[in-house]
Amino acid sequence: MAKKVASSVKVPDEKKIASLIHELLLELGEDPSREGLKKTPERVAKSLAFLTRGYRQNIKAVVNNAHFASGTNHMVILKDIELYSMCEHHMLPFYGKCAIGYISKGKVLGVSKLARIVDMFSRRLQIQERMTEEIANAIMEETGAMGVGVVINAKHLCMMMRGVEKQNSEMTTSAVLGTFRTDAKVREEFLSLIKQ
Ligand code: ZN
Repeated sequence: MAKKVASSVKVPDEKKIASLIHELLLELGEDPSREGLKKTPERVAKSLAFLTRGYRQNIKAVVNNAHFASGTNHMVILKDIELYSMCEHHMLPFYGKCAIGYISKGKVLGVSKLARIVDMFSRRLQIQERMTEEIANAIMEETGAMGVGVVINAKHLCMMMRGVEKQNSEMTTSAVLGTFRTDAKVREEFLSLIKQ
C-alpha cells in the first residue's frame, strides 16, 4: 500500500507538472528547447511543489506538541513574520508581514511554531482574508487561548503588475477571536502593540 500522507491532498507528480509547463511554454509562443528554457519545466515543477507544500502539512505535525506551560495570562505578540503566498485567482505571488497576538490560558507556543503555522497556510493557493482567519483559528485551537488576533499586510503582484497596476497598494486583513473580539480594551492593546 502506498504511504499515506498527512493531508488528503496528493503529492504532486513533478514529471507531470514539468510536461504541462512544457506545453504551456509552447502555447505562450516560446521555444522550450532553447538554451535558457531547457530545464525550466523541471525547475517550475520543483518550485510549485515547494510553494504549495502547505497542502501537505498538518497542524499537529507542525506544532509537534511544542507547547510550553506558562503561569501568567499575558498577551503574547509576534510581529513582522514574513509571508509569501500565491493568490488563487491568478496564481501570482502576494507577500507581506503577519502579526499575531494571543492571550494564553497557560499554554503557549514557541515563536518558531507560530512562524511555521503562518508558512503552513501561506504555502498554498490563497486569498488573504481566508488565510488570516485560518491562522487565527489554528492558534486558537492549538493553544486553547482566551483570544487571538492576526493582522496581515500584503502586496499582491496580481494588482501590481497587471489589472489595475496599483504598485503601492497594500491590503490589510485582520481576524480576531475570543476576548480579542469581545473586549475592546484587549483589541486596542493588541493593535497598539503591533504598531510599535
Ligand atoms: Zn490575484
